[in-house]
Amino acid sequence: MDFVWSPWRYHYIRANADGDLSPAECIFCFAHSVDDPASTLVIARGALSYVILNLYPYTSGHLMVVPYAHVPTPAALDDDTLGEMMRFVQMSQTALDATFSPHGYNIGMNIGKAAGAGIAEHLHLHVVPRWVGDANFVSVVGETRVVPEDLAVTYEKLVQAFARNRGEHRS
Ligand SMILES: [Zn+2]
Repeated sequence: MDFVWSPWRYHYIRANADGDLSPAECIFCFAHSVDDPASTLVIARGALSYVILNLYPYTSGHLMVVPYAHVPTPAALDDDTLGEMMRFVQMSQTALDATFSPHGYNIGMNIGKAAGAGIAEHLHLHVVPRWVGDANFVSVVGETRVVPEDLAVTYEKLVQAFARNRGEHRS
């Protein structure tokens, strides 16, 4: 399946340019603001943060939990936002367990360009499902990230898994 992510790709290109990124140029500010969340791979939206599927995943189901606030570090977030983000981490793990049965997870943030943050101006918390042997597979193919499942298929499965989650938590 072919994706036409033209606005998204435009923002990605701007994101890789030199200089600080303003909210108007930021993909994480842009992604949750669209009318059709599927067009930017947004899985779930909360009051203060949201969950998005990584367009360039490290493994199948690589998610990111992102605050709406355009800030570079968790020190700039209030307790409510931090709390909601961690609940989204829990829900991501539950959804990924149900969908892909990974063997483990890497969950964390790169803060600052020196630490490897691609978009340092707007923090994002990675939730990366891992399987025994997946790193070996990636190293075999070098720079190319080969992901066995189509992003659109992964997106649909995870949206449904999140919806089931929320149904169970609602009482
Ligand atoms: Zn932003």
